[in-house]
Amino acid sequence: ILVKVSTIGSHSSLQILHGAKMEGFQTSVITDTKREKFYQQFNFIDKVLAFKDIDEAVDLINSEEDSVLIPHGSLVEYLGQERVNKIKIKIYGNRNIFGWEGNQHKKMYLLKTSNIKIPQTFEKPEDVDRVVIVKLPGAKGGRGYFLAKNKQEVRQGIDDLIKKKEINSEEDVIIQEYIVGVPMYFQFFYSTLLQRTEIFGIDIRYETNIDGLRRLPQGYIDVEPTFIVVGNIPAVARESLLPKAQEFAESFVNNVKEKVPPGMIGPFCLESIVTDKGEIVVFEFSGRIVAGTNLYTNGSPYSWLYWNEPMSMGRRISRELKNAIINNKIDLVTT
Ligand code: ATP
Repeated sequence: ILVKVSTIGSHSSLQILHGAKMEGFQTSVITDTKREKFYQQFNFIDKVLAFKDIDEAVDLINSEEDSVLIPHGSLVEYLGQERVNKIKIKIYGNRNIFGWEGNQHKKMYLLKTSNIKIPQTFEKPEDVDRVVIVKLPGAKGGRGYFLAKNKQEVRQGIDDLIKKKEINSEEDVIIQEYIVGVPMYFQFFYSTLLQRTEIFGIDIRYETNIDGLRRLPQGYIDVEPTFIVVGNIPAVARESLLPKAQEFAESFVNNVKEKVPPGMIGPFCLESIVTDKGEIVVFEFSGRIVAGTNLYTNGSPYSWLYWNEPMSMGRRISRELKNAIINNKIDLVTT
C-alpha cells in the first residue's frame, strides 16, 4: 500500500515533504549527492536517496514502490521528458499535462480555449506590429527571453539565439504581445475529491535585472532588461479581482478535463498581468505546484479561509492524497 511521499530534491520539495509528514506519510527525497547533506538536516525527511549521475535518478524513483511521487517544476526540467516517461510509480496529478506545459504553442491554445484573456501571439517575426516579448520553451526561469520593439529586433534576437544554440529554429520560440501592467501569479488547487477550485495564494516573481532597473534613474544606463527568476514576493489581490481569477481557474479546469484527460488534479497556477483597466491577462500556466507557494509553508492568507489551520500547498496535496487513499479513490488523484 502507498504510505510514502517522494519528490526530487529541488524547487518546492521542502514544503511538499514537510506537508506530507504533517499528514502522516513517510517521506523520501531523491537528490544529487551534492545536496545530500542539505536535505539530511530536516527531520521531516525520513530518507535521502542520492544519485551521482542523473540517469540513476529514475531507478531510485522506481525503487520507491510504496511511494507517490509529487511532481514539481524541476522534475521535467531536471530529468527531461524521456526519463520522466520511464517513471513507473504513481505520480500525483495528471502526468499528461507535462507535454502541454513544455510546448509554448499548446500551452497558449489551452488557455485560449478556456476563454481566458491572453496576450496576442504573432506567428512570424514579420507579423509583429507592437512591443513583444520573445520566449524560449520550458520553465527555464526566464533565461534567454528578450523584449523587442519591432520586427527587425525580433528577427535579430532569434538569429542570435540560434547562433548561440539556445534554440534550433524560429519554431521553438513564442512571440507574444508585451502587456503593460503588474504581474500577479494566481495559485490554485483543484480538488478532484471535493470537486472545487480553491484559490491558494498569489505571488510575484522577483527577477533580475528587470526588477533592479527601477532602482536606477530612468536612462541612467543603457542595459537590456532580462527576466531571470531569483525569488518570489508575496501578494494579495484587491478582493474584487478574486472572482474573475476564480472564474478563469474554473473555466481552465473544465477545459483541461476535456482536452487533457483525466484533467487538472491538484495545484496549478495562472501567471498573469493585471492592467490598469483591471483586466487579468494570463500569459502562461503551470500545471503543477509552483515555487511561489514556498512563501506559504505555514499556510497562506487564502488557505486559512478554507481550512482554519496552517495549510501549505505541500500539505494540501498530502491531505488530498490521504483522503483519496482512505476512500479508495487513489486513481482520482494519481496517474
Ligand atoms: P517560468 O516559465 O520559468 O515559470 P514565468 O512563469 O515567470 O517563468 P515567463 O513566461 O517565463 O513567466 O515570463 C518571464 C517574465 O516576463 C515575467 O516577468 C513575466 O511577468 C514577463 N512576461 C511574460 N509574458 C509577458 C507578456 N505577454 N507581457 C508582459 N510581461 C510578460
